[in-house]
Amino acid sequence: MASSKISIYPSSSSSTSNSKPPPGWLEYILVNYRWVIVIFFLLPASFLYDIYYYTRSWVVFRISSAPHNHDKKVANVQRQVRTWDGVAPMCTARPGWQTISFREGAYKKTCHKVAINLVDVLRIDTKTQTVWCEPLVTMGQLTHTLVELGWTIPVVPEMDDLTVGGLVMGTGIETSSHKHGLFQHICLSYELVLADGSLVTCSKDENPDLFYSVPWSYGTLGFLTAVEMKIVAAQRQVTHMEAAQSRL
Ligand SMILES: Cc1cc2nc3c(=O)[nH]c(=O)nc-3n(C[C@H](O)[C@H](O)[C@H](O)COP(=O)(O)OP(=O)(O)OC[C@H]3O[C@@H](n4cnc5c(N)ncnc54)[C@H](O)[C@@H]3O)c2cc1C
Repeated sequence: MASSKISIYPSSSSSTSNSKPPPGWLEYILVNYRWVIVIFFLLPASFLYDIYYYTRSWVVFRISSAPHNHDKKVANVQRQVRTWDGVAPMCTARPGWQTISFREGAYKKTCHKVAINLVDVLRIDTKTQTVWCEPLVTMGQLTHTLVELGWTIPVVPEMDDLTVGGLVMGTGIETSSHKHGLFQHICLSYELVLADGSLVTCSKDENPDLFYSVPWSYGTLGFLTAVEMKIVAAQRQVTHMEAAQSRL
């Protein structure tokens, strides 16, 4: 009976005319036994990383150290921008493996890389119903922090690893609301470091041109350092209604 295992390599009898070098043992294992690596290495490593990440964010939010450290971290971004020689383009230093994208950003190799270590929820104001957070806050982190306090953002992109900065600057369009719009429509203001190292905030009333240009600009206008978003009360249950559509 033929083996059901799929191999990417041709059998020895059919490889006479093809003079490709034989695969190395590491490549062979990575391709044919990737489930071993996923189950015994990737999943446990990812589980431990999540425990570390959520515990760290929980502690930082509880002791409220993030707002104080934010100014120092932003000053560090400004310092890196001011050392730019104006020749090679600037980009975030975030490596490809940390993003949700499958693409490895090869363009980053020749860029002036700016490290943005801004990973915390800064403050929640239940009177004005807003949350301020740094761009590398993930959807999972933000949801855990808000729901524990009885709040949520009105539009929650469904993947836990998506970041606020990536959703604003990239194309965060999945999960939208007829009532609240797209992810960028729940954003009330942005704080950015511009190419000259200056720090600006923008909203519909302050620097409105910049405010409306930021979404989907892929970091071309500046480095995002904080975002203010709307929050709404989180219900314990939601009502799910489906309306029958008439046939066309
Ligand atoms: C497998 C997959 C699933 C997806 N699922 C969803 C989904 O469920 N819902 C949804 O809405 N979208 C989804 N997307 C699209 C996703 O929102 C975008 O790809 C988004 O840009 C991902 O952001 P990231 O958090 O990985 O950030 P990154 O990839 O790091 O950033 C995206 C872009 O924003 C720029 N950027 C990030 N942070 C900053 C900053 N601080 N300052 C300046 N520029 C910055 C980066 O330079 C880059 O150009 C998905 C994409 C993939 C590949």
